[in-house]
Amino acid sequence: MSRKYVIAGNWKMNKNPAEAVALINELKPLVADAACDVVVAVPFVDLPAALEAVKGSKIGVAAQNCHWEKSGAFTGEISAEMLKSMGVGYVIIGHSERRTYFGDTDVTVQKRVRAALDAGLTVILCVGEYLEQREQGVTGEVCAMQTKIALGGVSADEMSRVIIAYEPVWAIGTGRTATARQADEVCALIRATLAGLYGRSVADSTVIQYGGSMNAANAAELLAQKDVDGGLIGGASLKPADFAAIVAAAK
Ligand code: PEP
Repeated sequence: MSRKYVIAGNWKMNKNPAEAVALINELKPLVADAACDVVVAVPFVDLPAALEAVKGSKIGVAAQNCHWEKSGAFTGEISAEMLKSMGVGYVIIGHSERRTYFGDTDVTVQKRVRAALDAGLTVILCVGEYLEQREQGVTGEVCAMQTKIALGGVSADEMSRVIIAYEPVWAIGTGRTATARQADEVCALIRATLAGLYGRSVADSTVIQYGGSMNAANAAELLAQKDVDGGLIGGASLKPADFAAIVAAAK
């Protein structure tokens, strides 16, 4: 069983199109020899410029969300089909900021995953517990439940286009990283959940990332863990040298 590391940068609501091009141009030579897959998840308005800027490089482009309907009266929304039609390869779904601030639920996450897979996109599905849930000892239950609901109706074959990002909410944007052991424990538990749903072979070939204040200094230790197959990186992905250092640690 071999899994390729995937390092994805989540730019969140940062960078206009010109700034996105500048950042990608700075990043390109730094990750030219990457041993892992490299993805940047940019704001919707940056997608055309980012897709153009990554040409000739190994960098893939992701959106940060998508709607579950193909089209219709959903003012302000973007469909998975629209993303696919532009040449976007990946979409982040269920990020905790979407769940916390924009009302995403396990059910809407499931619908978005379904639409993204139907459109031919690769999904980066985020799951993770709140601090109170960790303190109550229910991290495993929370992450297993989020994973199971989000993947409801997803076939074993489709799992080759699903990446799971374990992102403890208390570690996102806080500078408080999960220990390597905590990250590995929950990634292993998510893998066991996948084994229950799809069998060992699918579980062993699914990429499971850790996300939450991963940076150039702590990436190597986190990425060395048996069940951690990459990272979803927020803040540090806006600094090309730091992001490249994380990419270099993924081998
Ligand atoms: C994220 O946005 O998914 C994330 C992990 O952010 P940060 O690295 O800043 O904690």
